[in-house]
Amino acid sequence: MGSFKNNLLSKELRCFMESMKNTDEWYPLQKQLIDKLADEYSIGKYTFRLQIPRSTLRPQGILIDDILYDSGAADEGNECIHIHYDTEDHGHCDNDIRVRNGMNWTQEQKDDLRLLVDLIHIIISRNIISQLLKKNLSTDMMTGVSNQLGFFTHVGEMMSKGLVKDYYTLFFNVSNFKYVNKIFSHQEGDVVLVKYSQAVRSRVSGDEIVGRMGGDNFVALIHKDHLEDFLYQINHLEVFHEAGDIRKKFVFQATTGVASMENLNDSSEIMHRCSMAYQVARRTGQRTVYYSKELSAKIEQQQEAVIHFVDALKNHEFVVYYQPKVCLDNLEICGAEALVRWFRNGVLIPPLQFIPAFESAGNVCELDYYVLEEVCRKLAQWKEEGKDPVTISVNFSRKHLDEDCFVDKVMEIIQRNGIEPKYIEVELTESKDFQDYLIMTEVVKGFKTRGIMCSIDDFGTGYSSLNMLKNTPFDIVKIDRSFIPQTDSRETTKKEVALFHGMMEMIQEMGMNSIAEGVEQKEQIQYLKDAKCYMVQGYVFDMPLTEEDFEQRLVHRKYEL
Ligand code: C2E
Ligand code: MG
Ligand code: MG
Repeated sequence: MGSFKNNLLSKELRCFMESMKNTDEWYPLQKQLIDKLADEYSIGKYTFRLQIPRSTLRPQGILIDDILYDSGAADEGNECIHIHYDTEDHGHCDNDIRVRNGMNWTQEQKDDLRLLVDLIHIIISRNIISQLLKKNLSTDMMTGVSNQLGFFTHVGEMMSKGLVKDYYTLFFNVSNFKYVNKIFSHQEGDVVLVKYSQAVRSRVSGDEIVGRMGGDNFVALIHKDHLEDFLYQINHLEVFHEAGDIRKKFVFQATTGVASMENLNDSSEIMHRCSMAYQVARRTGQRTVYYSKELSAKIEQQQEAVIHFVDALKNHEFVVYYQPKVCLDNLEICGAEALVRWFRNGVLIPPLQFIPAFESAGNVCELDYYVLEEVCRKLAQWKEEGKDPVTISVNFSRKHLDEDCFVDKVMEIIQRNGIEPKYIEVELTESKDFQDYLIMTEVVKGFKTRGIMCSIDDFGTGYSSLNMLKNTPFDIVKIDRSFIPQTDSRETTKKEVALFHGMMEMIQEMGMNSIAEGVEQKEQIQYLKDAKCYMVQGYVFDMPLTEEDFEQRLVHRKYEL
């Protein structure tokens, strides 16, 4: 390679190299450089063509076919220098420089121009490669949106400029994406995910950004003025896909944790906040949950509970309370529900403060068996003492449906304690999905053939379908308190009463028994009787009682209204 004789060329080239260090926009700079040298080198026309094909690393490819410079005085027949390069990623670069009308290049000028184009090519190639590297490090290769590094680099830059206080971070998971993979193959499912990602990206602008965290989990940084709209968008996101004979329009929703970026101490807190909110949303089945200090305290408390579970079980900190069930015909006790409480450091903790945490941590099943064991032990003792026991219902989490031998385990505990099956009733809550419901039907049938009654708890609050009631042979339906007409509420309308009557009629038609939960006022009893609901559990008769208090009820047995 020779050296430049022309001072102007050396100066402009150095300038060009300097500017290239700080920019991704190399093409305008290249144009400027040629502009500045055109007169000195009698350039009539400069045509530039760069073509790099699409590849995994460069999904868009590169295509530039342009005139870098045109003096308007360069005829086709004029002398032309043609310089061609093969690029590393199977691309081509062609430079055509034509001399101005009426001018001729000296050999020196021609050498200079060749050297110039060589150097430009080297500088540009280096710039393109480093751009690609930077982009690939921060891009999710499958979907083309940012990856974790890209997302946090962007957010970090905004934080350092003090720009994030008006923004929210979102962590979201696409609901029902597994449905896509059931309809299409996994490869097609990937294509749908790419379409989904692009659709989400098209809904952010300015300093907003969306990133993929793997699987169908995404993060986004969204301006506060756009938050509501963005949440709406990701809960109504339409993606159309067609493969072979299958054409399908998906409308995706998302489960989202949202956290404001205010009062952030450091960037690691961002993820902590929104993923905590997301976890809560997922566990509680809510679409969107916002992070707050209170939420964080509650989660910490629950995590604390999970940490202490094993010790608490060993130390018998879990205590069973019994809430009587009363028959309206004769106002006599006809059963009871076992409800667990946790005595921890002298404080009584109600179940809703620890059961959800145990459900997600997976130890709720152990607790339920412990409660059953305690109930059986008590039943055996009452029998021995000559107290005439009643059937005790025990709550079993839906998590038991994932176990292989739920029914057998329950039977083993009952038999080992010498308890007749008629004294135990299994309470199950409504299923969340169809799969669960099929397993639930099998489980209920299993209990029934072994002489154990099953009830469906909190009926009406979950996703139970009338079909499930028809196909699953529950013995008893426990109607949630929200369906029991309230006498002191002005809103008690004919409709409420009609709904309750309708439910009762249907339950009776199907040959099942019913019990009204959470009945608090004497005045409600009339509604129940009118609808032929003759079993009641609620504060109107008793709250959940300690063992000792409940034993008293087993002696007296009768209630008054
Ligand atoms: P659940 O099984 O629906 O139990 C009924 C809940 O309603 C109990 O709350 C009971 O104290 C409350 N209740 C009863 N009568 C009335 C009333 O008249 N008014 C009002 N407002 N409430 C009434 P508790 O004991 O706090 O239990 C809450 C939930 O925790 C239970 O709902 C059940 O889902 C769960 N749970 C309790 N013990 C266990 C257990 O051993 N295992 C499992 N897996 N879950 C349990
Ligand atoms: Mg219950
Ligand atoms: Mg209930």
